[in-house]
Amino acid sequence: MKDVLKKIGTWLFLGAASNKSFNIDKMLEVIIVNMIAMFGVFCFCSAFFLTSIFSQETYPAMTYIMAFVLAIVFTATHTNKGIEYFKVVKFIVLLSAMLFYGFVYAKATYGYVWSFLVPIMIIFLTNIYIGLILCFCYFFLMMAMEHLLGINEYELFFRQIFVYWFLVVMVGVYEALRMWYNKRMQEDKEKIEILSLTDHLTKLYNRRYFSDMIEKEFARAIRQKECLSFLMIDADKFKDYNDTYGHLHGDELLVSLAEIFKRIVKRSEDLIFRMGGEEFGVLLPNTEFKGAFSIAEKIREEVQNSTKITISIGLASIFPKVGEISETLMKLADSNLYKAKETGRNKVVG
Ligand code: GH3
Ligand code: MG
Ligand code: MG
Repeated sequence: MKDVLKKIGTWLFLGAASNKSFNIDKMLEVIIVNMIAMFGVFCFCSAFFLTSIFSQETYPAMTYIMAFVLAIVFTATHTNKGIEYFKVVKFIVLLSAMLFYGFVYAKATYGYVWSFLVPIMIIFLTNIYIGLILCFCYFFLMMAMEHLLGINEYELFFRQIFVYWFLVVMVGVYEALRMWYNKRMQEDKEKIEILSLTDHLTKLYNRRYFSDMIEKEFARAIRQKECLSFLMIDADKFKDYNDTYGHLHGDELLVSLAEIFKRIVKRSEDLIFRMGGEEFGVLLPNTEFKGAFSIAEKIREEVQNSTKITISIGLASIFPKVGEISETLMKLADSNLYKAKETGRNKVVG
């Protein structure tokens, strides 16, 4: 039962946006547009139904047009095209709502009560700045109609504009706070994401991100039939360095190594990781053996020339095939690193 209600609610309020990964702001806009559309069509149908039973009164053409437009809007938000062009749909809703409530204001008995809906719709559907401008526009429209048509007594009119502006301020402040809060949340989320993917000391990507990325890059290399290269880097005799200069200097050296890697590995698709301890990994998408080897050599040389230690690098370059797993690449690089260590260190083996 709960599931059925949830499904119906999702279909009614979100329409075709339910299978899109929109942010919460856009979702809210889609929900509000659908609510306005359903509310409009419902009001019109029920009023039409009641009057056709109890009185001979007919509605002006504008009412039919509005109900028709809102029915179309509702249909549009339930198609992918309508969601794709949601800005246009939103513009139609705003324009027709403002025109219609202006019309109701001028023509219907106690029509002014509907004007209180306008600031809520406008501010929720636009941003706070455009919302305020449109609220002013609608306010001037009301003033002009009062001046030209003398719809309400002055006393009533003053009360009405007081409530109108009270609503504008209240909804405006609420929306401004909501936007500010959302921005803060988004920033915090990004910070947490960065923290969870990077290594605290060197600010390189961490092992967890490596596990995600090797899978993705491996799959991409298979799809695009490209060569994927991986460098497994390990500092030589790092234990001795720590013992000689102290752990703190060891840490500083790891940071210097990261700086060197970043200076040499420059392509935006390339990814550098701290795999743990004094081990690093460099993933080079769409790079063949020759290119990867020369990058590895450059890194090795630079470390030798500008620090007190050396590094060994195991290189693996493969054109992965369907069915192969990413560990193949890791294992190959690892065994080449082992060979580099075995045969004297400070070298690249591929
Ligand atoms: P090899 O040439 O065979 O790689 O010798 P190694 O001493 O580098 O190798 P081993 O794996 O035996 O030792 C790694 C050392 O790296 C152990 C530890 O003292 C040091 N190390 C690991 N993580 C850190 C770190 O975060 N900071 C510092 N300062 N040292 C670390
Ligand atoms: Mg090691
Ligand atoms: Mg080592």
